[in-house]
Amino acid sequence: MPLGGSAGFHGRVERDVKPTASAASLAEEIGRAARRSGAARVLILDLDGTLAPIAARPRDARVPLVVLDALERLRGHGWRVAIVTGRPMATARRMVPLVGLAIFGSHGLEVEGASSGSRVLHEAARRAAAIAREAREFVRAFPGASVELKPFGCAFHHRALSRATRTRFKRMLEAWLAVRDTRGLERLEGDGLLELRPSGSGKAAVLGRWPPARAARRGDRSFVAIGDDRADEELFAALDGRGLTVRVGLPRLRSVARRRISGTKAVARLLTTLAEDGEAERRHALS
Ligand SMILES: [Mg+2]
Repeated sequence: MPLGGSAGFHGRVERDVKPTASAASLAEEIGRAARRSGAARVLILDLDGTLAPIAARPRDARVPLVVLDALERLRGHGWRVAIVTGRPMATARRMVPLVGLAIFGSHGLEVEGASSGSRVLHEAARRAAAIAREAREFVRAFPGASVELKPFGCAFHHRALSRATRTRFKRMLEAWLAVRDTRGLERLEGDGLLELRPSGSGKAAVLGRWPPARAARRGDRSFVAIGDDRADEELFAALDGRGLTVRVGLPRLRSVARRRISGTKAVARLLTTLAEDGEAERRHALS
């Protein structure tokens, strides 16, 4: 596939998302669903821009303690939680150092405890590694930009550049990539980021690789997927109306998600409220 090849969800991102839900109303909706018998109680969560506020330099991003605490408590209340991120799994694990959580790195290509990858995948990854090596010189011309080698791809970060420089960086990067060997790679553009990854990979893979994800049912709003960027749209589209999909971010962004929430602070409030629900439920059961 040529470099222009992109993830297959684009054609389906057609309608605008429903109006923004407050953290409180969303927590109420999900909490009510979770109390039904047979509720899935599954959370599939993106990391950057969803749990961790976006930082100018990716290495500075942190998951707030209040979020880690809420996730830990939710686990104790029977929620099964997976983090699905474009970051390498080892980095994601450092950012979310909790036991009992499933972590999928590299957009679902890396699964903890599993050796992953076909020959085609590894060839594509080798090409991405060669591009990342060569690109170091290219990005040096743009102080603040960087290239990150990932286990199955590479990412060009340009968030720290000024708006004008960013436009020039992207234009020159396109020209630079056009004469490189990008067979088997597709691109994914995010906020301040252009990533090359093996064609056909994507967050939707987690639905087949993580057993609790099979609990997704139409109408069960205790099965929740939350994310803030294009890679998450793949997962939302693959769920195709099952569970509850929540897009984090500005209302102007198009999405196939069922709900929208404003930002990482709102996600933190949502998770904290759900954890408190769990504790109230426990108290009620004991009284
Ligand atoms: Mg994100």
